[in-house]
Amino acid sequence: MAKLYFITGSQDLYGEETLKQVAKDSAVVAAHLNEKLGDVVNVEWKPTVRNSNEIISVCREASMDEDCVGVITWMHTFSPAKMWIKGLQILTKPLLHLHTQANEKLPYGTIDMDFMNLNQSAHGDREYGFIASRLDVPREVVVGYYADPDVISQIRRFGEVAKALAFSKSLKVAMFGSNMREVAVTDGDRVESQICFGWEVNYYGIGDLVELVNQVTDAEVDAKIAEYKSAYTMTTDHMAPIREQAKYEIALDRFMVEGGFGAYTDTFQDLHNLKQLPGLATQRMMAKGYGFGAEGDYKTSALGAVMFEMAKHRKGSTGFMEDYTYDFVDGLVLGAHMLEVSPEFAAGKPTVEVHDLGIGGKEAPARLVFDGVQGDAVAVCMTDMGDRFRLVAAEIELVKQPKPMPNLPVARIMWKLKPDFKTGAAAWLYAGGGHHTVVSTALSMKDIRMFAKLTRTELVEITEKTDIEALQAELDMKNVLAKLRKF
Ligand code: MN
Repeated sequence: MAKLYFITGSQDLYGEETLKQVAKDSAVVAAHLNEKLGDVVNVEWKPTVRNSNEIISVCREASMDEDCVGVITWMHTFSPAKMWIKGLQILTKPLLHLHTQANEKLPYGTIDMDFMNLNQSAHGDREYGFIASRLDVPREVVVGYYADPDVISQIRRFGEVAKALAFSKSLKVAMFGSNMREVAVTDGDRVESQICFGWEVNYYGIGDLVELVNQVTDAEVDAKIAEYKSAYTMTTDHMAPIREQAKYEIALDRFMVEGGFGAYTDTFQDLHNLKQLPGLATQRMMAKGYGFGAEGDYKTSALGAVMFEMAKHRKGSTGFMEDYTYDFVDGLVLGAHMLEVSPEFAAGKPTVEVHDLGIGGKEAPARLVFDGVQGDAVAVCMTDMGDRFRLVAAEIELVKQPKPMPNLPVARIMWKLKPDFKTGAAAWLYAGGGHHTVVSTALSMKDIRMFAKLTRTELVEITEKTDIEALQAELDMKNVLAKLRKF
């Protein structure tokens, strides 16, 4: 089980009695957080650190502990911050600075200097915040009484993002084939991706998958078809194309498990010895949490897996998406893909359909077709700007499809842009965001912001507040900053 270390800073000057109380109070705070957050992450209390050696020791332990996904620090008393320099320099886990107190309200009637000596995070945390800033340690600062539900929910978010970061660090991505020929935005520096996010992205021949497809037995396919029949509405008795996709799903599952992969890509330009483009199969894989990027888009695939992990403890839908076409009159985006839309987005029971693809020259593939869910969401794209990665994230609202689209043979969702259609679309284009995104109704801009901050990734936000002139100035500034950071 993933855990957060809870580390309380102090010093020896206070004497035994005060330090005993510090230990007692911090254990109460840690236990409370552990109780409230236990469904997401355990909070493990650590003995108070009083000097540089103890801080180095616990930071080293946190960095080496595979189960530790992050660290919470709190200066209950004053903890001279030169003591924190070496520890923070070796800490490799995400950091949350909790600016709290053991007491919520001041005890006006009884307050004395003993109380003042014990409860001084107001200045102890300032000393600590200074050194964290001077060392430029990326961190989340949470302010308030530790039992305040708002404080708990902020720490919960940190726990979820920290777990997703740990997942990211160990994520392996299989690319079946390479990037779609000539396409720019889906390409990227895979070495740099591994340096920045931990993603191990490697190429496999589609033949490696075909080999597994050919090993799938009829009995395995029968069992899979029974699953499909119970989950979806079948619209045809012509089962051969559906059985073909069932084989792909079984083979993909096997490939992912055997190789320890959490995400994959494919491309319709490299499907040798596969009769169809994986459609239904990939849709099913996405619903299980595997990241997917079409046309060799490894960045969207990996980001999708990481966002799915982040959203694991929440309600909502997360998956691969593509901006496809517009309704200019109502200001709506129709999002879909050739086939690969996660059934996580289905508003009702999907239908299994078989239609020609019209591209790639393969057999007509089986796919799930449905209308999409509604609600607030975030659409996120990762681009490679050459000297750094850039996340472009937009707040969007998924809406009901205004009219049926009986001739559209793919799953689809529709959404509104913010602050309005024209500004939202122009902002995305100025930011250089691609046509592939990960859309999530479970996550919000706050999650993406925290992910960007903790991974030191540039983020362009498109929200209700976006002003197109200000955004262009921000992009200019970001270009300059990125170049300065190279020195
Ligand atoms: Mn595409």
